[in-house]
Amino acid sequence: MPTVFVAGAGVFGAWISYTLQRAGYQVTLLDPFGVAHSRASSGGESRIIRCGYGADEIYTRMAQRSLALWSDFEIASPRAKLLHRTGALWLTEPGDAHAEASRVVLRKVGVEFEDLSPDELRRRYPQIQVPAQIGAIFERNAGALLARQAVQAVVKEFVRLGGTYRQTALRSPKEESCSADILIYACGPWLGKLFPDILGSRLFITRQEILFFGIPPGDLRFQAPQLPIWLDFGSDRGMYGFPDLEARGFKLACDRHGPPIDPDTEERLVTAETVRQMRAYLGERFPALADAPVVDARVCQYENTSNGDFIIDRHPEFKNVWFAGGGSGHGFKHGPAVADYILNALEGCAPEARFALANKKTTQNRAVV
Ligand SMILES: Cc1cc2nc3c(=O)[nH]c(=O)nc-3n(C[C@H](O)[C@H](O)[C@H](O)COP(=O)(O)OP(=O)(O)OC[C@H]3O[C@@H](n4cnc5c(N)ncnc54)[C@H](O)[C@@H]3O)c2cc1C
Repeated sequence: MPTVFVAGAGVFGAWISYTLQRAGYQVTLLDPFGVAHSRASSGGESRIIRCGYGADEIYTRMAQRSLALWSDFEIASPRAKLLHRTGALWLTEPGDAHAEASRVVLRKVGVEFEDLSPDELRRRYPQIQVPAQIGAIFERNAGALLARQAVQAVVKEFVRLGGTYRQTALRSPKEESCSADILIYACGPWLGKLFPDILGSRLFITRQEILFFGIPPGDLRFQAPQLPIWLDFGSDRGMYGFPDLEARGFKLACDRHGPPIDPDTEERLVTAETVRQMRAYLGERFPALADAPVVDARVCQYENTSNGDFIIDRHPEFKNVWFAGGGSGHGFKHGPAVADYILNALEGCAPEARFALANKKTTQNRAVV
């Protein structure tokens, strides 16, 4: 069977390594900093898994497939809990085009969801304060993945299956003299540094800040199942959050792109301005948390492509070299489906145009949400 080197032990590299090893390839996974480390995009506490993607059926189907694979993986894993099926609550305005398109696609592909009227939303979730016209879409099987722990569990399973993990960097194919038949670079926000000519201007690395707020003592309203993960993308602030999972606090983040950063050198300290903005938002939407203390904070990065579509393609010069990246702030959930895609591509399946390098522009115009 062919030998494969996979660079990058984030969610894409971990799932690719595990999937190929299971399929009979002999895989070596390399990462200079460790599995799902603090600078990696996959190194956070938790990530949302949901199937609603507006009209982007391709990502709805990938998320649906990934949810099944994450679930199978969790059942087989000795780590008891990697996937919290809290449900996903999309707050929506009447007539919102993204929500309407999501409903159409979710129905088409058979993802279960409920439409909550504004009255029903308020009845079920009195801890969320929204303007009178706001209702919601509720995806009951969606939820949150424990990101770092899940990636570490996948790599552990990969090694148990006979794969090799080494804490070292893989250099670019021009400098590398490794003997593997196939090289796959799943280096997330580092891809542009490794391949400056090809990817340097096609990836936009942005600073994203996350805060965890302490919930009031004994208050269960901010834990699942009383509170699911929720997305408030209709508001121009693009906020989303998680219930208090594993007692880490109520997690709040903004999906708008922050300023450009370098993943190697960035100081991971949130700004006072972000704390102020998040508190103002809490006061409006979750008034019981308006004065809640910040109990933890993280700075991560999105590795955005021009429109949010992934890059999963061959290197233009080296036919045995692949890229898998461009997670663009929504990639984590798709780790299993990305790995399936790579496996199928290696076995000769036709490529998907949306993942092609050739379709990635050098100016940003975000379309995938
Ligand atoms: C704040 C935040 C919130 C997010 N929320 C969600 C969400 O709710 N749902 C969701 O689905 N997605 C979400 N995402 C997106 C998701 O986390 C990323 O798309 C995904 O983790 C990217 O994984 P990756 O494996 O491509 O990159 P990474 O996790 O960054 O892994 C890349 C790895 O490559 C390694 N590497 C670099 N250079 C080399 C080299 N030369 N040789 C070997 N290895 C190398 C790095 O050390 C790193 O470990 C979020 C992202 C952020 C930052």
